[in-house]
Amino acid sequence: MSEASGGQVVHIVGAGPAGLAAALTVAQAGGKAIIHEQRPDVGGRFHGDLQGVENWTTNADVLEELSAMGIRPDLDTQPFYEGTFFDPSGREYDYRSSEPLFYLVRRGPGLGTLDTALKHQAQAAGVEIRFRAPCARLPEGGIVAGGPRAADAIAIGFTFETDRADGAFGVLSESLAPKGYAYLLICGGRGTVAACLFDDFHRERMYLDRTVEFFRRRTGLVMRNPVRFGGAGNVLMPKTARQGGILFAGEAAGFQDALWGFGIRIGMLSGCLAARALLARCPESYDRAWRQRLGGVLRTSLVNRYAFARMGDRGYAKLMRSIGRMRDARRWLFHHYSPSVSKVLLYPLARCRVRSRRGPPACGVLSCDCTWCRSRHSTS
Ligand SMILES: Cc1cc2nc3c(=O)[nH]c(=O)nc-3n(C[C@H](O)[C@H](O)[C@H](O)COP(=O)(O)OP(=O)(O)OC[C@H]3O[C@@H](n4cnc5c(N)ncnc54)[C@H](O)[C@@H]3O)c2cc1C
Repeated sequence: MSEASGGQVVHIVGAGPAGLAAALTVAQAGGKAIIHEQRPDVGGRFHGDLQGVENWTTNADVLEELSAMGIRPDLDTQPFYEGTFFDPSGREYDYRSSEPLFYLVRRGPGLGTLDTALKHQAQAAGVEIRFRAPCARLPEGGIVAGGPRAADAIAIGFTFETDRADGAFGVLSESLAPKGYAYLLICGGRGTVAACLFDDFHRERMYLDRTVEFFRRRTGLVMRNPVRFGGAGNVLMPKTARQGGILFAGEAAGFQDALWGFGIRIGMLSGCLAARALLARCPESYDRAWRQRLGGVLRTSLVNRYAFARMGDRGYAKLMRSIGRMRDARRWLFHHYSPSVSKVLLYPLARCRVRSRRGPPACGVLSCDCTWCRSRHSTS
């Protein structure tokens, strides 16, 4: 990891939110961060689609937390305080909060995306990003933030242009997105409609067609210049996110909201924590650090996923009524993502039952030769 030339030199694999946050942390501490990114620019895994940075897993605002970790809040984000949701029968609920429920961001290369905003912050701080530089090994250690290594959930959808007003819409229905959800996000004349599936992946086109038709009927969705996109997410509660001097951050570690796949915030936080551990020349402190900050929410989200996957349409309808009874949807979400006695008790069962499709335990080393790792160059 260190080639001491004034400050520490930290090599990082992957210029996603986790890798860029790690690099910023290193640069701000006076070290030299070098990111190896296989693609020609940041955000290459994404397609200009709209995503949300969740703001409900802590009382404090996510942008304040990121600021405290050295990431400036000018990330081309748009706060959303409300959304319209539909239950499986089409019944409509409006959920609101007095504070942002989430911050909408666009993902991908190019101006106006979260990825580019982070890249600009990192480069201004002195981070070196080597593009078109796939990295197969980190012989002297460093941080691996190369994104998902298995498809535990997939999202398939369209990005498009629209004249519609900004808005966020969601639907829970087994016929649109088995064990997942479908969503429509519109901001500044751009839109994203998608089905996020946690099951039955091979019929994804049918679910996407149904999703588009649903939003067309219920919201008057009209897409101009639609472009298809898709992607995968990987959920795993790792025993450790370290292999010797190599620390894993973001989805490379399996860090992901197991319930609904909100991985941006967790990714950035884990990147910062990994960088701090290396800067302190104490890589072994990383496992303690991420468990302390992220362990609770990761475990709770796994229990939530276990319960959610068993609900079916009747359960979704009940769930949505219960959120609707709360005056503030953010409070409801905060409560359900917080550890409780019942969730602590259910965790061992959920951990056994919610299995990642990731390969064998050795599938964590960059040079791993399992089927997923060998095939991922064409899928990541
Ligand atoms: C369609 C879709 C919608 C999503 N919506 C949301 C949402 O609304 N909210 C949310 O919070 N999360 C969402 N997520 C999840 C979120 O986008 C990810 O959790 C997050 O991007 C993970 O960040 P990361 O830095 O760990 O990995 P990534 O963003 O995947 O970045 C990894 C980077 O590493 C590079 N790389 C990989 N291997 C190598 C290598 N060997 N050498 C060099 N470079 C390498 C890749 O090219 C990539 O640029 C969504 C995911 C998808 C697919």
